[in-house]
Amino acid sequence: MLYVVVLGVPGAGKGTQAKRLSAALGLPHVSSGDLFREHIQNGTPLGIEAQRHIDRGQLVPDEATIGMVRGRLERPDAASGAILDGFPRTIPQADALEAIAKDFDATVGPAFHIRVPLERLVDRMAGRRVCREAGHVYHLAYNPPKQAGVCDVDGSELVQREDDQPETVRNRVQVYEKLTAPLVAFYRSRGVLQEVNGDQPMGAVTAEILAILGQEAAR
Ligand SMILES: [Zn+2]
Repeated sequence: MLYVVVLGVPGAGKGTQAKRLSAALGLPHVSSGDLFREHIQNGTPLGIEAQRHIDRGQLVPDEATIGMVRGRLERPDAASGAILDGFPRTIPQADALEAIAKDFDATVGPAFHIRVPLERLVDRMAGRRVCREAGHVYHLAYNPPKQAGVCDVDGSELVQREDDQPETVRNRVQVYEKLTAPLVAFYRSRGVLQEVNGDQPMGAVTAEILAILGQEAAR
């Protein structure tokens, strides 16, 4: 029973890979973002606690996040393992995951660190356009609209979000790299870190990860 960890900065394709691995391996995709939304929607005590911090622009405290993940990993569909996305995000969370794994007789790892060079991320984001009307997402290179500057669905104007401006992307990635670095070091010191080249088509990234998991299973 494996808890597979997927690490990476925003834009590296972490969520996409976690979903694809979930489908390929038949293990649930456990995303901290989805758990926050679910608990908040259902008004659980942990959700109310999370909402209180989000409303103040603060991070959800480790204890609340850990409680949600533990509860999720207790569900029957996670009896064979899970693909973890957005968790752990801090060293206390990583320590908690080790404790949860011990309780459930699971192994943590491999931890896949999906790496994409900073300037590639800037390029990817710089090509993103969203429509004014409904936020439909396009990409000038990978998913262009039929007619330049116009949404295929509703005909509204396509614009670049402030968040996708090169300087904003650079700053955001650098902030996340600083937050991710201790986790990368944590899993490297445990001998379960796997660096994955995220600068290739998403199918190739998935294939690289599945090949590593196959080798691990054969050992
Ligand atoms: Zn649209």
